[in-house]
Amino acid sequence: MEFIDLGAQYDSIKEKINKRIQTVLDHRKFILGPEVEEFEKKTSEFLGVKHTIGVANGTDALMICLRALDIKPGDKVIVPAFTFFATSEMVSFLGAEPVFCDVDPDTYNLDPKQLEKIISPKIKAIMPVSLYGQCADFDWINQIASKYKIPVIEDAAQSFGATYKGKRSGNLTTLAATSFFPAKPLGCYGDGGACFTNDDKLAERIKQLRFHGQVGRYNHVIVGHNSRLDTLQAAILVEKLAIFPKELELRQKVADAYNAGLKGKVKTPKVESFNKSAWAQYTIEVNDRDAFAKKMQDKGVPTAVHYPKPLHLQPVYEGQFSKLKFPVSEAVCQKVISLPMHPYMSEKDLKTVIGAV
Ligand SMILES: *Cc1c(COP(=O)(O)O)cnc(C)c1O
Repeated sequence: MEFIDLGAQYDSIKEKINKRIQTVLDHRKFILGPEVEEFEKKTSEFLGVKHTIGVANGTDALMICLRALDIKPGDKVIVPAFTFFATSEMVSFLGAEPVFCDVDPDTYNLDPKQLEKIISPKIKAIMPVSLYGQCADFDWINQIASKYKIPVIEDAAQSFGATYKGKRSGNLTTLAATSFFPAKPLGCYGDGGACFTNDDKLAERIKQLRFHGQVGRYNHVIVGHNSRLDTLQAAILVEKLAIFPKELELRQKVADAYNAGLKGKVKTPKVESFNKSAWAQYTIEVNDRDAFAKKMQDKGVPTAVHYPKPLHLQPVYEGQFSKLKFPVSEAVCQKVISLPMHPYMSEKDLKTVIGAV
């Protein structure tokens, strides 16, 4: 059994993908070729957002969103203490300072109840993560942010396809960033990412930032980056986006089966009534995680831990944030464990996982 079976997906659309790749090889517009624009347009339609700007990966997408808002040394950005490192990494990389916020013990997303007390004049952005595929509570977060006139960036690397009160992840905040890393809900065959916004000016700036700050050929108006979505990856993504709504339904079915089989036995994921998760992960909580993982492995079931250590306790932040306390983040890091999750899980594999748990 595989944790994520990318082969099953490829087998189902092999001819279409191969044809798309061949088309790119034939026209050879490898950088910002027509497929990039096609994918950006189709993605904007899917999200209902005005602008999609393809970039090299999800980490760059976060960095470019921060730079679009002119985040610089001395500024502070609020991020959850429990997420993948890239979220705070890009804040630190720009010389700004991450200000950690603890998460909700059931959704694992930034806890809006704790947000207002950490806002200060130096906070220049709030960057909640929609973890495991479920959106953070953006109405609540946006309401607090707008009171202090602070822009919000959604780290939507795990939530592409999710909805919040009927609106798609990526279309809920000033700016949003996603990743098309192969294992994400919508993944390409290498690295890829995108920024989203409804703001024309920010979209223009993001386009400059991904291409050396260029406006017109060899005319550089700002210091930018080389961070474009590859034409080949965009071509693959166009075909994958076409089957993506169907895959979201299949992911929900897998989650439903897990919920039905595991309820009352372990702590199963809580999805808010106004949310639809993209199910990047199906993550449960257990007490003796190492022993549990070992037993699962013995029964042929792969598991993974997202994530074993909160950000403030990462070695890179030793002495800087390591004395801070985020009790919920610290507790859930000890207990969370993710089960195999992808749209093509067989009934047999589902039964095996549920039985093993
Ligand atoms: C995967 C991920 C990223 C980074 O995306 P890459 O494409 O791997 O650079 C950022 N934030 C979160 C929450 C992620 O899960």
